[in-house]
Amino acid sequence: MDEVRLYIINFKSIGMSINDVWLDESENECLCCGGCAAICPQVFEVPGKMLVKEDVDFCQFELAIKLAAENCPTEVIKFD
Ligand code: SF4
Repeated sequence: MDEVRLYIINFKSIGMSINDVWLDESENECLCCGGCAAICPQVFEVPGKMLVKEDVDFCQFELAIKLAAENCPTEVIKFD
């Protein structure tokens, strides 16, 4: 059977510009699952725990960043 992935989009968050993206482990930890990098490899890399790539124009990847954050199993991706 084919794998089906469901991405839930919070349409209220579309339209705001993103200036910063970071890993927030104050409540939960990154599971190193690689999901964020699979959704948006231009911004995220997961050599161990998730890292946000430097010198990226987040505005060009807003939808993918929001999808990654909303689908992160531990909700540790934050953006502003
Ligand atoms: S999707 Fe979330 S838990 Fe998985 S690697 Fe990315 S930040 Fe970590």
